[in-house]
Amino acid sequence: MTARKVLIWPDPVLTQASKPVEKIDASIKALVQDLIDSMEYEGNSAGLAAPQIGVPLRVFVVNIPPEHNDGNGTDGFEAFINPEFILKEGQFEWEERCMSIPGESGRVKRAYRVIMRYTDIRGALQEREAFDYLGGCFQHESDHLDGKLWIDYQSSLKKELVRKKMQKLRAAS
Ligand SMILES: [Zn+2]
Repeated sequence: MTARKVLIWPDPVLTQASKPVEKIDASIKALVQDLIDSMEYEGNSAGLAAPQIGVPLRVFVVNIPPEHNDGNGTDGFEAFINPEFILKEGQFEWEERCMSIPGESGRVKRAYRVIMRYTDIRGALQEREAFDYLGGCFQHESDHLDGKLWIDYQSSLKKELVRKKMQKLRAAS
């Protein structure tokens, strides 16, 4: 498949809500493969959501290393389709980055423990509990599906500074 260009904020596809996936067909499987290929091409990214490669559908991929899989036995890339949180509990704060806002980062408060319901790539409904790092990744990627990025949790001053930097990047690309 193909590594696709990752859109830079504030591209309009990044700031709109994405649509639910109705059927897991070949096009969705190809989309998931493109997300994985794009992450591998860019390197060193925890997750990527479909709108970041210009597809406004509720799909994201997270690369979950074994030390963050909370003992559920998974390792590597996993696709999450139509995710929704059925529990969010506690709080922690960490520094977030995003492939759509290269070179920048900001502090974001996230729920410490989440339970996320989603459809997997085989079309089965699943629930996944996650804490801390992985829970934070799920929340960051789910936000993308609602047109929200970490920059939306920052002060308006920081948001404007980053917007100017990204506009220069977008103009140069
Ligand atoms: Zn992101």
